[in-house]
Amino acid sequence: MAILPIVTWPDPRLSQKCDPVENEVLDDLIADMFDTMYAAQGRGLAAPQVGVMKRLFVMDVTWKEGEPSPKVMINPTIMAAERVPVVMEEGCLSIPGVLVPVERHKAVTVQWTAAEGDIHMDDFDGFEARCIQHEFDHLNGVVTFDRVDAQTRAQFETAYLEMQK
Ligand code: ZN
Repeated sequence: MAILPIVTWPDPRLSQKCDPVENEVLDDLIADMFDTMYAAQGRGLAAPQVGVMKRLFVMDVTWKEGEPSPKVMINPTIMAAERVPVVMEEGCLSIPGVLVPVERHKAVTVQWTAAEGDIHMDDFDGFEARCIQHEFDHLNGVVTFDRVDAQTRAQFETAYLEMQK
């Protein structure tokens, strides 16, 4: 159990595509990712955010309401999406202090490998669907800044970099 340092933007690792998980033993990494996410008051954390360039993320979108629902998704694939656009402000543990309005699909169907190694498929909507799309983006080197138009991006980047000084 350990809290890992979180990689923050503009670290180049946040812009890299991650490799599929093969046969690695991930138990310690997954436990540390949950510790790190909860300690940082987050609801989702992808491996590249702790410098591990592998396709997995952890999430728990309800723990702050007192009902933990931890999930681990290894090598996730978005199989289908309900392409109704929903815009909501999104935070990111790698871009602390900034909320960016991001458009996402309303619902997604995801296939993933669980920590125990078995393959799952399920439908998600609401905040969980948003969180999955956000974390999935991290596995492809995409952050919230990449999901807005150039003018909006410039505004938010400036505000963020100003805060880092
Ligand atoms: Zn993020």
